[in-house]
Amino acid sequence: MIKIAIATLGCKTNTAESAIILNQFNPENYTLVPFASTADIYIINTCTVTQRTDYKSRNLIRKALIVDNQNKLDLAELLNNEDYHFQDIMTAAEFNFKPVQKMIEHTRAFQKIQDGCDYRCHYCAVPYARGPARSAKFSEVLTQARIFVENGYKEIVLGGINLGLYEDEGKNLADVVEAMEKLEGLELIRISSLEPHLFSLELLKRLKQCTKICPHFHIPLQSGSDRTLKGMGRPYNSSDFEVLLNHIFSFFPDAAIGLDVITGFPGESSSDFQATLNFIAKLPIAYLHIFPFSCRPGTAAYSLPEQVSKQEKNRRAQRLLQLGKEKKEYYKQKMINEKILLRGILESKENEIGTILSDHYIRAYTSTNKKAGELLKIIPQQLYKDGVFGAKAE
Ligand code: SF4
Repeated sequence: MIKIAIATLGCKTNTAESAIILNQFNPENYTLVPFASTADIYIINTCTVTQRTDYKSRNLIRKALIVDNQNKLDLAELLNNEDYHFQDIMTAAEFNFKPVQKMIEHTRAFQKIQDGCDYRCHYCAVPYARGPARSAKFSEVLTQARIFVENGYKEIVLGGINLGLYEDEGKNLADVVEAMEKLEGLELIRISSLEPHLFSLELLKRLKQCTKICPHFHIPLQSGSDRTLKGMGRPYNSSDFEVLLNHIFSFFPDAAIGLDVITGFPGESSSDFQATLNFIAKLPIAYLHIFPFSCRPGTAAYSLPEQVSKQEKNRRAQRLLQLGKEKKEYYKQKMINEKILLRGILESKENEIGTILSDHYIRAYTSTNKKAGELLKIIPQQLYKDGVFGAKAE
């Protein structure tokens, strides 16, 4: 029995990929051990979004076979092959599809259907680490979704590096969701993150027809200042963004909208930051993910003048974190006041109290005799721990 330890840094796409990598090893030949313990093979599946993750990765890497982002899914095979050649990721043209049976530790399955990005946002190093945009074949997407459902997963989270760019022979993300909607046994479909300008009205209309879709949309806003958005190379302004949110709420009135925001992009003045604060303050969103700007070599923003001091970036991040907390509390209270039905897959139970991460992306608790992995519906009644407590709806 070989011992394998795996550490995953970064986003849900990396979580999905770690499961794929492990699934390439024969389950009869290995045991999974904690990363801190002694192992025969250490796998570090990392990311390059911020300097912080690069630093963490370097700390994890001691003695390693470093594999490129396209071929890492074939790691089990590569370990038996002495003459591995590093591939220039910018030449990757095909989506490297590897069916996966189960996730490492999650109740829900993360399914990567798209990789790479053709955009060049001025702060972002991801396209250089992930290569050009490429999509799984539509048939592969359905094959993988069926495997997950057969293995008992009732929720699938669709992910990618720039998911809105999903395209295979004329099929787009809406086609994927519609096809998955028909899979018997699958209860919930969640979309991990979508660029605002790829979130079309057409997509919204079609998603609305799917009863399994989670009304939870994560959208990278990055800034509420038009001047900063332009400096970042983002192809929309704050008014476009507001129009998009209005559209989303007209289709999904109680949607949980989460935003990514970067603080301290080079040249972001106090008034730009204030514009971001004011803009977000008036939006009926559910939560914020805040990232102090991280200066990545090779990106357009790397050599920009007017870098904002670390202290100031962090001060702005703290201010937004506070606003994010207020938004989250407000959203939970709204769910309780309006008795919005929350659906989710039972994750665990303690003293007969079960917990779900609901379709509206808030944690919900109720007493239940259902088993982990089953669908649970809850009407929220009061704030409880990090989420809400409610009555079972059926
Ligand atoms: S859309 Fe922009 S931020 Fe997102 S991966 Fe592509 S370049 Fe990076």
